[in-house]
Amino acid sequence: MFYIGIDLGGTHIAAGVTDSAGRILARDSTPTRAERPYQAVIADMAACALSALDQSGHSLEEVAALGVGIPGIADNETGTVIFCTNLGWHDVPLRQQLQRHLPLSVWIDNDATLAGYAESVAGISKGLRSSVFLTLGTGVGGGIVIDGKPWAGAHGVGSEIGHATLLADGEPCTCGKRGCVERYCSATALIRMAAEVCTMHPSCAMMQQAGGDMGRINGRLVIDLAKAGDPLATQVFLQYAHYLALTVNSIISFLDPDMIVLGGGISNAGEFLTRAVEKELPDILMFKTQPHAKVALASLGNDAGIIGAALIGKLTLK
Ligand SMILES: [Zn+2]
Repeated sequence: MFYIGIDLGGTHIAAGVTDSAGRILARDSTPTRAERPYQAVIADMAACALSALDQSGHSLEEVAALGVGIPGIADNETGTVIFCTNLGWHDVPLRQQLQRHLPLSVWIDNDATLAGYAESVAGISKGLRSSVFLTLGTGVGGGIVIDGKPWAGAHGVGSEIGHATLLADGEPCTCGKRGCVERYCSATALIRMAAEVCTMHPSCAMMQQAGGDMGRINGRLVIDLAKAGDPLATQVFLQYAHYLALTVNSIISFLDPDMIVLGGGISNAGEFLTRAVEKELPDILMFKTQPHAKVALASLGNDAGIIGAALIGKLTLK
């Protein structure tokens, strides 16, 4: 049998057909255009999935289940998206709407949870009993895998690591609180920290690289200059790595997983990032002589969303 995974993002919908090992056989994508009514977005999700299925050469009868990753939280009792901030969705009957186009078993889960699950089945944390996945993008998403299964918590909000408090009364967050992990460990945070330094040093290398326009500073620019040894970019990057190491310490203190996997845009910094975090850990961790979770880079890239969604569909059939 085959599985369909749909990754519903704020800008793009991606759908793919996989085999039972999570290998993508065919895929398609289309813009989300989230400003439209949800019915239109969901119709496009179904059309995208059917297009991928068509390209795979298989039929709907050969598909056992469908999974959907959403940037939010869902209730799988009712098949409803409870909350999806960047789509503006509240209590959207996603399963019911999808099944009008695709008569399949439908499971809905958080996209970072599914990406973490995909890594644990087909990626860097494959075969490990426990892992925690962090997406370091515009925001910070989290995914927890325990005993080979995604752990969403008793109430579906268990992996919102991005909104754990890192600094009491710190930077204001999009969630309405202050000092969340996301405000210090996202790409947005790295850019903010760089802008703060650039305000004090308007002729620094970061500003020169950005053509004097602070609005053009992005994560890659800062990281590339830090890699090249620029002192101010290095200062910003090490500050970022420090916050990330504090977050890693919280995860280890709470869960002590086998591995912490870093994904999302900032993880493109590669081992430059994992080395910087690992270097900080001995000073931060409580049990300094005990072995601890390896901090590793995600290996599936953007495919993790489709693979995780397809595999969760499979998992929930059992
Ligand atoms: Zn927050």
